[in-house]
Amino acid sequence: MAFDFDLFVIGGGSGGVRAARLTAAGGAKAALAEEFRMGGTCVIRGCVPKKMMVFASQYSEAAKEADKYGWDISIGDFNWPSFQERLSTELSRLEGIYTKNANNAGVEIFHQRATIKDAHTVVLADGTEKTAKHILVATGGTPFVPDNVPGIEHVITSNEIFDIPELPKRILIVGGGYIASEFACIFNGLGVETSQYYRGAQILRGFDDEARGHLSELISEQGVDLHVGTDVERIDKKDDGLHVKSTDGKVKIFDVVLYATGRAPNVKDLGLEDVGVEQGRGGEIVVDEYSQTNIPSIYAVGDVTDRIQLTPVAIREAVAFHETVFKGNPMTPDHANVPSAIFTQPEYGVVGLTEEQARKDGPIEVYSTAFRPMQNAFIGKPERVMFKLIVCAKTRKVLGCHIIAPHAGEMIQLAGVAVKMGATKEDFDATVAVHPTMAEEIVLMKEPVRSFD
Ligand SMILES: Cc1cc2nc3c(=O)[nH]c(=O)nc-3n(C[C@H](O)[C@H](O)[C@H](O)COP(=O)(O)OP(=O)(O)OC[C@H]3O[C@@H](n4cnc5c(N)ncnc54)[C@H](O)[C@@H]3O)c2cc1C
Repeated sequence: MAFDFDLFVIGGGSGGVRAARLTAAGGAKAALAEEFRMGGTCVIRGCVPKKMMVFASQYSEAAKEADKYGWDISIGDFNWPSFQERLSTELSRLEGIYTKNANNAGVEIFHQRATIKDAHTVVLADGTEKTAKHILVATGGTPFVPDNVPGIEHVITSNEIFDIPELPKRILIVGGGYIASEFACIFNGLGVETSQYYRGAQILRGFDDEARGHLSELISEQGVDLHVGTDVERIDKKDDGLHVKSTDGKVKIFDVVLYATGRAPNVKDLGLEDVGVEQGRGGEIVVDEYSQTNIPSIYAVGDVTDRIQLTPVAIREAVAFHETVFKGNPMTPDHANVPSAIFTQPEYGVVGLTEEQARKDGPIEVYSTAFRPMQNAFIGKPERVMFKLIVCAKTRKVLGCHIIAPHAGEMIQLAGVAVKMGATKEDFDATVAVHPTMAEEIVLMKEPVRSFD
C-alpha cells in the first residue's frame, strides 16, 4: 500500500519536532501537524519563558545583596510590558528556528490540528486526509484544573500567565508541584505579594522529604505566604479583585489566581478511542519500551505518555523511536537516573533516588549537610544551602544526590554524570574539592548522618 508519508507526527513540541526532523533528514518522507505554535510547551509556554521570568525575578534580591557588598544601588519597579515585549520577540525567534530547522530537514508542516482516523490515516482540521506508514502522537500535556470549585472560571493557568496584560499586585498560586513553586518564587521576586496554597501536607510531593522541608522553609522565609494543608473553597469576582475563600475559612483578595495543579495528557478528541489505542487511567497513551502503542503503526512519545514529563526525556524518546523504526536499530529510552532541576530560588537539583525510595531497598547511608554559604554569611543573609548524598551501604554507589543552592540546576547536570556512571561515595571522596565553593561540600561529607538496614 502506498502512503502519503512514511511518518506523520501530531504535535510540534520537543518530542514531535525531533522525531520528524531526524526522519526527514534521514531521507524518509515526514510530515508534522501543529495546532498552536512550533516549539510546543517547552519553547512557547513552559521551560523557556519560565526561565526568562526566573532570570528577571532574581534581580531584586541581587540588588539587595549588591547594596550590602558595597554598591550604591537602588532598583525601581519591574516593568512587565517591557519584559513581555522582549520575551515575545525571543519566543518568536525560537519558534522561527524550530520551523526553519524542520523545513530545512524536509519536514512538511501543517499548521493546523490533526486527529487520527485509523491506523494509517490522520485528518487535518481543514478536512484533508493524509496517510502514513507510521503515526507518532506527540501532543504533550495541558494544565489540569479541577471543575468543582465555584468561580474556577476566573483562574488562569501556566498557558496564560506569560500573556497577562499587567503585573498583578497580589497573586495566589494554587498547587504544590514544581511549576507552582517556581511561579511562587518568580512572582515574589518580581515584587508581587505572593501566596501559595497547597492542599497536601508538604509541597513537592515525590521529591526527597528532607529537601522538601528545607525548600519550603526557604520559600516562606523569602516572603511567599505559603499555606500547606489549604485548598480553595470558592472564588468570587468583585470590583476590588478575586475573593478567595480557602478551606481554613479565611477570605483573601487577589488580582490573579494561577492554578498549577498538575497536567493531563493532551488526548481529548484525538480519535484514540475510535482507533482502539490503549490509554491509562489518566488518559495517557500506553506504550511499550519502544514507545509503540497496541496499534503497531501508532507510536507516542513525550508528555502524552506520562513517563517522565521533561523536555530532554521527550527528545530522548523521539530519538529512540527514530532509531528503532527508521534505522533498524532497536533502542529504548533510558529513564533511569534522569537529572532535573526545580527553578525555585534557590534551585533544587536532583538525580537518582530520594531517601524514602532508597530506604525501601536498603541498606543505605545518608550524608547530608545544610549551611550558610560564605556569600550569604558575609551579608548576614540567613539562607542555607543543602547537599545530600544517598549511598548504598553494600555497593557504596551513590544512589541519589540532592542539592538546594543557587545554580543547583547547573551543579546537578555534572553530578548527574557521576551518578549515571555508577560513582561510589569513595569516588566522590577521592575528588579534590574546588575551594572556595559551595559545591565542594559534595566531596567533603565524611560521616553519614543516618544509616538504615
Ligand atoms: C510551566 C512549565 C514549565 C516547564 N519547565 C520545564 C523545565 O524547566 N524543564 C523541562 O525539562 N521541562 C519543563 N516543562 C515540561 C516540558 O515543557 C515538557 O515535558 C515538554 O514540552 C514535553 O514535550 P512534548 O513533545 O511531549 O509535548 P509539547 O512540548 O507539549 O508539544 C505538544 C505540541 O502538540 C500540539 N498539539 C496537541 N494536540 C495537537 C493536535 N491534535 N494537532 C496538532 N497539534 C497538537 C500542542 O500545541 C503542542 O505544541 C515545563 C512545562 C511547563 C508547563
